[in-house]
Amino acid sequence: MERLRTCQNIACRKSFKVSSPGKIADYVDLPDVQAIAFCPYCGSPNRVTWPKGVTFITRQNI
Ligand SMILES: [Zn+2]
Repeated sequence: MERLRTCQNIACRKSFKVSSPGKIADYVDLPDVQAIAFCPYCGSPNRVTWPKGVTFITRQNI
């Protein structure tokens, strides 16, 4: 699964991808929790909602 986020650092504001293996359907039974994803451009922490316990990576949106 993959979601597009926009960096909350107002000096950056670039869009980046947050992704985990598998499809959204694989995680429907897990509750969404707040997690922190670090922007791959500027390193700023961004809050994301993500299925509990599922690891993710961030990538530049290119
Ligand atoms: Zn950023």
